[in-house]
Amino acid sequence: MTKDQSRKAIVIPDFLTVRELADLMEVSPIDVIKELMNNGILANINQQIDHDTAAIVAEEMGFDTSPEAPPVVEEEEEEEIPMISLPLKKRMYEDEAPEDLEIRPPVVTMLGHVDHGKTTLLDVIRHTNVVAGEPGGITQHVGAYQVEHRGKKITFLDTPGHEVFTAMRARGAQGADIAILVVAADDGVMPQTREAIDHARAARVPIIVALNKTDRSNASPDRVKQQLADVGLQIEEWGGETICVPVSAKQKTGIDDLLDNIAAVAELAELKANPNRSAMGTVIEGELDKKRGPTATLLVQNGTLRLGDALLIEDLSGRVRAMFDERGERVEKATPSTPVVVLGLSGVPHPGETFKVVKDEKTARVLAADRADDKERAAIRPARTLSLEEILDQIRAGKVKELNLVLKADVQGTIEPIVNSLEKLGDEDLKVNVLRKGTGNISESDVMLAVASQAIVIGFGVNADPAASRVSAVEGVDIRLYDIIYKLIDDVDKALKGLLDPVYEDVVSGHAGVRAVFSIPHAGKIAGVTVTDGHIARNSLARVSRNNQPVYEGRVSSLRRFTEDVREVREGFECGVGLEGFRDFEEGDIIEFYRKERES
Ligand code: GDP
Repeated sequence: MTKDQSRKAIVIPDFLTVRELADLMEVSPIDVIKELMNNGILANINQQIDHDTAAIVAEEMGFDTSPEAPPVVEEEEEEEIPMISLPLKKRMYEDEAPEDLEIRPPVVTMLGHVDHGKTTLLDVIRHTNVVAGEPGGITQHVGAYQVEHRGKKITFLDTPGHEVFTAMRARGAQGADIAILVVAADDGVMPQTREAIDHARAARVPIIVALNKTDRSNASPDRVKQQLADVGLQIEEWGGETICVPVSAKQKTGIDDLLDNIAAVAELAELKANPNRSAMGTVIEGELDKKRGPTATLLVQNGTLRLGDALLIEDLSGRVRAMFDERGERVEKATPSTPVVVLGLSGVPHPGETFKVVKDEKTARVLAADRADDKERAAIRPARTLSLEEILDQIRAGKVKELNLVLKADVQGTIEPIVNSLEKLGDEDLKVNVLRKGTGNISESDVMLAVASQAIVIGFGVNADPAASRVSAVEGVDIRLYDIIYKLIDDVDKALKGLLDPVYEDVVSGHAGVRAVFSIPHAGKIAGVTVTDGHIARNSLARVSRNNQPVYEGRVSSLRRFTEDVREVREGFECGVGLEGFRDFEEGDIIEFYRKERES
């Protein structure tokens, strides 16, 4: 950066890539990347940055900047709903104004080793504390339930173990606010106890230890507390921060104490949501009911879900035809942190999928079909959703501040030097976070932790178990194996610096010629076109050319035949096309439709 050069003026558009910015300034993209890093932003050469970011960088590099005159764009008719890829929790609440947020009940999950008493504890809590009005009947299992304790509600995920929790996190949703770690006082810390701790920590969810089976004669609470301390969970009475509540699920003792502590932790966390908006949340369970068709238990996490709402769940759509609480009683609405069983879906959704209420059923259907298309396309390509590069893309796009790693090495002695070197690579803007480190081959459990935490698995001098390889292929987790420490560190370093530049290629699907231009209220200008070859799709990218000169590049914003939203139009047919932020169509323009695919 040369401070004393006479300042040149450049005009910066709303969005541009790092390379385009470098071209504008006639400097090397590497310098731009460095300057971005100085400002705490990791971007690769093809990454889009916004005007404000670009302006700051350019000013610092000695340029006077001015924004490009904004095109006059009328309000978009419909909000484009992107595939959910960022941690949902962030997305769900980040757009809310603080004054709209209201306190919501905590969502609690039970984790711990098999047979330590999770199911029994969940049953005891459910039967002794169900919300008032319970007619004494046994409640049905729907995957989650709410209890009332001293006038306050608490929501429990009713599938013990980290499966649901993991499935939710693997799909980018923050499923629970508090984890109850159930440890049997006679058995102590076991492998799944440790795994549960890893999961809760990776999710940054506070842990409350329920020291169960204290009725047993061979219970030794102090030994368990020592074991917990050994794995890094310091109990309050030993000067740490973790609450530990002795209970006996069998004798129903300590339950109120446990619930009191949950309420206290929840209060401290100030869990909030905006009840006065359309609902969004996570699927807890899905089932095909012989009589009622597809049903799903949905956990509302933001907004209020109402009877009649149109739903979009991944690539399924629907309308809330009926809603029931966990006692099977009909309800008309569900506020944040409330689980409800919903009827009226087009198929059975999977646990951990996120749902969202959209304007109407038709919108839900069109968007669902778009997503089904995307999914089909993704299925043809090798599953690589969690490669190192892609995680870094997400870090950059979502401003996630961590690169999560699971590290397995051949011998204990090599772990610390590797971890130390890795942790040194990060800075306060982008931390390298080793979620689990250990010796031995990469196991299925390592891969599952990585899936749930958007981590990559690094092996040093080890291999992956067959089961781990299988799961990693299905889930698309990157397993990287190394034999040379330098190479390992160097790869992660390069990735962090944004130099692992993903290569995309454009795959053209078809072309259309503009025959007429229409002005549509609230939707700007629409081109009436004929598809001249191939097919054109609503979720495409598009380029407009006029007399062989490019005039626009961007996204399709609408695709209609007559008044119907459609997904795709084939060769020979006519339709209406809207492009994002573009209203200067002219008769005779050629529109090329394409999509970006990562080169393998
Ligand atoms: P999970 O695998 O963690 O869900 O464990 P379960 O809830 O299925 O419990 C495993 C076994 O431990 C069952 O036989 C329970 O009856 C028993 N159990 C659970 N809690 C207690 C307890 O507090 N005291 C005693 N003595 N047994 C318990």
